[in-house]
Amino acid sequence: MEETEVANIKQRELDERYMAMARVWAENSYCVRRKVGALIVKDKMIISDGYNGTPSGFENVCEWEHDGRTKPYVLHAEANAITKVAKSQSSSLGATLYITASPCIECAKLIIQAGIIRVVYADKYHAMEGVELLKRACIDVVELKTNDELEVLKRLVNRLEE
Ligand SMILES: [Zn+2]
Repeated sequence: MEETEVANIKQRELDERYMAMARVWAENSYCVRRKVGALIVKDKMIISDGYNGTPSGFENVCEWEHDGRTKPYVLHAEANAITKVAKSQSSSLGATLYITASPCIECAKLIIQAGIIRVVYADKYHAMEGVELLKRACIDVVELKTNDELEVLKRLVNRLEE
């Protein structure tokens, strides 16, 4: 097997692990309609995380009581993760973003401006215009499908490491 192929399989394994962590993180969301988690990884370190929710200091309720609709000031998971970096000493320049759902166009704009170079998402959610925008900005976009194929890849990695 070629070296690049081995590297690809290992990257896939790593992506799967971070995505699993993003899924766990999504469980922190108090939103009822949908829970989304995001992680920002740079140089194999998690530099930020986020889940969908209201801004700091607001009530921990995402939906209006009267009709169950999401409040307009709820931030998406990736927006929370990116703005958390803005408050920190870290920089998202050159980082990878893991999100459990594909980004909307508003978050795609933030991702581009934050200097993120790679986006890995799991579930197709919003209209694909966010993903299309990322691709136009030459960001490496990966849809991570959890299927049997992945199990095959994992077994290959195990065999290679033996
Ligand atoms: Zn969004």
